[in-house]
Amino acid sequence: MTGQLEGQSIGIVGGGIGGLSAASYLASEGADVTLYEQHTDVGGVAGRIEADGFRFDTGPSWYLMPEVFERFFAHFDTTPADFYELVRLNPNYRVFWTDGDSVDIPADTDGARSVFESYESGAGDALEQYLEQARETYELGMDRFVMANRTRIRDYLSVDVLRSAKAVRFLGTMDEHVSSYFDNPKLQQLVQYTLVFLGGSPYNTPALYTLMSHVDYNLGVYYPMGGMMKVVDAMEAVANSQGATIHTATPVTDIVPDTDGVTLTVDGTPKRHDRVVSNAPPAYTERELLPPGTVNRKERYWEDRTLGPSAFMLYLGVEGPVDPLAHHTLVLPTDWRPHFEAIFDTPQWPERPSYYVNVPSRTDPDVAPDGCETVVVLVPLAAGLPDDEQQQQQFRDKILADLAEQTGVDLREAIRFEQRACVSTYGEQFNKQQGTALGLAHTLWQTGPLRPGHRIPGVDRVYHTGGSANPGIGVPMCLLSGEHVTEAVVADSTDARLSGRSPLSRGV
Ligand SMILES: Cc1cc2nc3c(=O)[nH]c(=O)nc-3n(C[C@H](O)[C@H](O)[C@H](O)COP(=O)(O)OP(=O)(O)OC[C@H]3O[C@@H](n4cnc5c(N)ncnc54)[C@H](O)[C@@H]3O)c2cc1C
Repeated sequence: MTGQLEGQSIGIVGGGIGGLSAASYLASEGADVTLYEQHTDVGGVAGRIEADGFRFDTGPSWYLMPEVFERFFAHFDTTPADFYELVRLNPNYRVFWTDGDSVDIPADTDGARSVFESYESGAGDALEQYLEQARETYELGMDRFVMANRTRIRDYLSVDVLRSAKAVRFLGTMDEHVSSYFDNPKLQQLVQYTLVFLGGSPYNTPALYTLMSHVDYNLGVYYPMGGMMKVVDAMEAVANSQGATIHTATPVTDIVPDTDGVTLTVDGTPKRHDRVVSNAPPAYTERELLPPGTVNRKERYWEDRTLGPSAFMLYLGVEGPVDPLAHHTLVLPTDWRPHFEAIFDTPQWPERPSYYVNVPSRTDPDVAPDGCETVVVLVPLAAGLPDDEQQQQQFRDKILADLAEQTGVDLREAIRFEQRACVSTYGEQFNKQQGTALGLAHTLWQTGPLRPGHRIPGVDRVYHTGGSANPGIGVPMCLLSGEHVTEAVVADSTDARLSGRSPLSRGV
């Protein structure tokens, strides 16, 4: 602890990954931190369902970029191993295409090379070159910008960055970049599917995000035994160990900053803090929680953003085996463009959906009762899509029939527990703009300095953290977001002290 925020009272709205991370970092600087979470559990979309012996992670299930988790825990003199056992998956994942073909992507890159070569002569070498480019981009991007929290436009204009950016055709789309390496559409899909993690498509995500291929092919795909909920438990324990106070079932309805501090309305009661970090979605924080007219943005700023997908989620406890589903399975039409169009261009329920099936019980039998499996199906959908009960039911039937047809696994008679989430769940339960599950997509115009930052234009003492702020979507990025917002709070508090304004105010 460096104590740079000693004596400051900081309120945090929301206990998602970004909020928990911020709570830990801010408390480690000596701040008196109080986190208010509206739900009975922390974790946000990284939630959990525990019922009838089945344990489901409701949101994230791919543990990627282990070094970022290490970095978080190391700051508090712990390691992930103090809290959970991490296993590397092999294969990384399995793909079923709708033409009857299927393939495993092995954890080792030599194995992946052979797979690529079997689809296209020369594609093994092309994969090696592609991944080398992805590694360089990742290292440059993480070292220079993401880890270092450099989000100003001038940070992006230095000579070596521009040179490297040119090499990856920074301004082009992933689709253009990838098709310069591979002709076979299946191979293109195998290096592009990770864009869905970023809330984007190959057609609207800049080639910079080729770095995601380094993340899965080179760095590997991991699983924390017990599920991602173990990561949330670990983060909550770290926040507590740093002295943060966490209140659950306490919704915040107003954030009112003034010259001396910020008043939150928590369950109808005013709570006074020197500064506030909001982990609630930025659009909702700015339009619903802050007083009207306080934020200095163009009127249509939020309407004009590109939202990442929402999701249709099925949480299924099933009896009996689910072979040949792997821990991570993707079911993909050979032409997936119509599904992306149904998400980003002409919102509608997809005719021929691409989807992801997660069966953590393949690695971790403890998450399901004996003889059973825990199955989660995720279908990306357009944010804002109407999702009445009848529509959801029809889509559920369609997906289960499709899964049986494409993989041979017919779950319909084996389901012992079932729960769903859809567009309205993310909108109503998490206050996400139009029910986007992931937040702002990582388009070129919503990346780096062009993405909402931690500071809010025109508003002092209130900050954003989480997936729709910098650096972006995903558990690792939200861990970093909590670190970076703390740097902003420390810098502003120091400035206030140096300029003679008191950074402190009295508690109510
Ligand atoms: C279905 C799904 C699958 C995903 N898969 C992966 C994956 O495999 N790997 C990966 O790394 N990432 C994945 N992600 C992305 C990742 O989970 C998110 O980017 C990350 O968890 C978002 O964290 P956040 O900090 O933005 O907070 P959120 O999860 O959005 O949490 C914000 C919190 O604020 C609370 N809140 C909101 N309003 C209020 C209020 N007024 N008062 C009090 N509290 C409030 C909410 O209840 C919530 O707890 C997935 C996301 C989803 C939805």
